Amino acid sequence: MHEHAPRPLRPEPVHTADDARAVIAALCQRFYAAGWVSGTGGGVSLRLGDRVFMAPSGVQKEMIQPDWIYELNRKGDIVAGPDPALGFTVSQCRPLFLAAMRLRDAGCVVHSHSRAAVVATLLAEKARARHVTLTHLEMLKGLKGVGYADIHRVPVIDNTAHECDLADSLTAAIADNPGVHAVLVKRHGAYVWGDDWLAAKRHAECYDELFSQAVEMHRLGLDPLSAPR
Ligand SMILES: [Zn+2]
Repeated sequence: MHEHAPRPLRPEPVHTADDARAVIAALCQRFYAAGWVSGTGGGVSLRLGDRVFMAPSGVQKEMIQPDWIYELNRKGDIVAGPDPALGFTVSQCRPLFLAAMRLRDAGCVVHSHSRAAVVATLLAEKARARHVTLTHLEMLKGLKGVGYADIHRVPVIDNTAHECDLADSLTAAIADNPGVHAVLVKRHGAYVWGDDWLAAKRHAECYDELFSQAVEMHRLGLDPLSAPR
């Protein structure tokens, strides 16, 4: 097998800490291949009951080993971690992952640095808008509780010099936008969540394609709010 070939993933809930660690490592490989977590950026966190799992900070996401994954409680205290000799620290995204889990009871949170997400935030910036608005697009149906013709507004928050400083504005954006499963961070990327890892993966894929479609519509001079004729 190629060194970075994706590990087998089965469409099943996680039941054990080992499952959670293996799924995070496998998802990181897939999201790396998609260009969402390159250059050590981005990441995935998964919740199993009242235990939360996330990767170390600043590691190559496609090479994450299951035994590098931290286990935390829902307050964010580290319960178990990798061998200290490895010199790791827990993900800088910790308070952001925990915010989506606390406010939405999310079972999994994906943080992407994808180009589509970044460029979508630049379009919002240009329009002086605080949301990226999506409507009449088929992939909206992949988002829980969202329909094809809904007007779906994904909030955009300002970036900060340090990832952890996003926590307050991300928390406010989640609270202010019920029914939305993502927050965009200007010139940075997106946080996307779901009830479990399968829902979070589906949401992350749908949002990324929707952001890409929105960017392409702008490129072609099309009105993203237009309804079909
Ligand atoms: Zn980031």
